[in-house]
Amino acid sequence: DYNPPPYEGPSGEEILRKRKEFLSPSMFFFYNKPLNIVHGRRQYLFDENGRRYLDAFGGIATVSCGHCHPEVVEAIVNQTKSLQHSTVLYLNNAITDFAEALASKLPNDLKVVFFTNSGTEANELALMMARLYTGNHDVISVRNSYHGNAAATMAATAQSVWKFNVIQSGVHHALNPDPYRGMFGSDGEKYARDVQEIIDYGTSGNVAAFISEAIQGVGGIVEMASGYLGEAYKVVRNAGGLCIADEVQAGFGRTGTHFWGFQAQGVVPDIVTMAKGIGNGIPMGAVVTTIEIAQVLMRRSYFNTFGGNPVCCAAGRAVLKVIDEEKLQENAFAVGTYLKQRLAALQHKYQLIGDVRGRGLMLGVELVTDRQFKTPAKAETLYIMDQMKDLGVLIGKGGCHGNVFRITPPLCFTKKDADFLVDAMDY
Ligand code: PLP
Repeated sequence: DYNPPPYEGPSGEEILRKRKEFLSPSMFFFYNKPLNIVHGRRQYLFDENGRRYLDAFGGIATVSCGHCHPEVVEAIVNQTKSLQHSTVLYLNNAITDFAEALASKLPNDLKVVFFTNSGTEANELALMMARLYTGNHDVISVRNSYHGNAAATMAATAQSVWKFNVIQSGVHHALNPDPYRGMFGSDGEKYARDVQEIIDYGTSGNVAAFISEAIQGVGGIVEMASGYLGEAYKVVRNAGGLCIADEVQAGFGRTGTHFWGFQAQGVVPDIVTMAKGIGNGIPMGAVVTTIEIAQVLMRRSYFNTFGGNPVCCAAGRAVLKVIDEEKLQENAFAVGTYLKQRLAALQHKYQLIGDVRGRGLMLGVELVTDRQFKTPAKAETLYIMDQMKDLGVLIGKGGCHGNVFRITPPLCFTKKDADFLVDAMDY
């Protein structure tokens, strides 16, 4: 029922003109005529004309509690009024309070937190810690993964479109345990043999780390085949390596069944990295590990100016509270299960839908021009996406061929929203 106040700023055309002149040309956007989004409330976004859109992409799996959630806003405003910045050189309750709350969400002795400013930076730090801790250099990541765009993370990322200035060696890409496209179907343990082969044939036998998403996000919502992580972790630990879970997209209850994506595979990582949903859109990331592994930074001057900023931490603390109080993980499970069923029915109806997958409110719909050869239907994906936008639904896309719809809305999404989305897709 929310009516945004009238928008009085410059038009979309004017903003686009300035954007072309003043912003990096490497930036790209969805839709031929990009939307000028001026307001957000819960699962909705509003454009300059007051038109409402159902946000099924959630700011790229980031707006966990919903746009401008009042409790998160209040926490940010209150913290901003008392202290905006101090650095971790001094004590501040907002930082330690959030670190303690975050640690309580992780299993076993994963309880030492390092705050960063993004997911990339969290993964850079995790990989560096693994290399320092083990004294080894080789890293194994999974093909089709996305881990960031700095030195070590761009090397670990395994999709050509995101790899253009790779300056680190010693990274190996394992077969993707993709139940839809992978050669071993959904037999996760078979794919893990490739990790052993990489160690045997591509390294000295000792590795620093294995890094993996539990459900690949940018790669098109690909859930690791069941049993993969357990087996891969065993193999990597035998070679002296640490196991890093990249929870940048799948964390914070998004997958519905668990708070963290890796938990669905029954594993406990050595290092967990996170960002996106951690602050409901406030830029922040974190690395959580054990005290033993964290000791590698003990006498080193590892530092970043903004990491642990009190305003970000106040937002993060409020996000955890809202996820618990509003039972958003449980909602992600209930609504996600319902939505997946409705999408599966659509798959039954249209040959164009090759696969429906994912968990909770992290769902993917892969479009193919023929089911036998699974030829990516890229043009159709763009066309439907555009049509859905005209009908009032914003959806993401991804996958290395750009033919997968990514559905990662705020976790307050309702069954009614799910119906609205499917009806727009079925238009
Ligand atoms: N890891 C995963 C799984 C991601 O999806 C992303 C971003 O999409 C990153 C890391 C990098 O995070 P950021 O864009 O905050 O640097």
